Amino acid sequence: MMTKEQALKMLMDRDAVLEGHFLLTSGRHSDKYCQCAKLFRYADTSELICKELAEYFKDGKIDMVVGPAIGGIIMAYEMGRQLGVPNIFAERENGEMTLRRGFAVEKGQRCLVCEDVVTTGGSVKEVIALLQSMGAEVVGVGSVVDRSNGKVDFGVPFHAVLSMEVTSWEADECPLCRAGAGAPVKPGSRSFKK
Ligand code: ZN
Repeated sequence: MMTKEQALKMLMDRDAVLEGHFLLTSGRHSDKYCQCAKLFRYADTSELICKELAEYFKDGKIDMVVGPAIGGIIMAYEMGRQLGVPNIFAERENGEMTLRRGFAVEKGQRCLVCEDVVTTGGSVKEVIALLQSMGAEVVGVGSVVDRSNGKVDFGVPFHAVLSMEVTSWEADECPLCRAGAGAPVKPGSRSFKK
């Protein structure tokens, strides 16, 4: 088993989790930034991280892994590979989560839903509802990072490799600014360096 510290270090080594002083799109300041897509740039680390989840769900008699696009696509692929089952992804069409490209699930098929980062869990809930409406059985939800602060309830077992509390503040209440940390950086901006 991987410890929380090991998982965090792995994500930080791949810049999927950064610590510092960040300006979020909401305008709030934060001491952490999480972008799991950066983890999946590296097949070796992705394999190790997903192995943790695959171990957790390996006795779940899973038939199919389903990920919501875009965040869940690569993750579902790697989870399916490790569990030895097919994987598909759900995507939005006219705003609604659906299966396209001839993807389908069968009645009674045991599905594991995978999403890289769970914050509110909105997309995952939609995928669960979609699969259930097609007669499939959703046996669990797996994610790399749980940022919901334990607040999300999918009605099925949920397991994340790393639970990460992300705190943010209004600019005038930011303790990092008060401590003289300098101007916050906007992750993803061109001037932003690791
Ligand atoms: Zn600040």
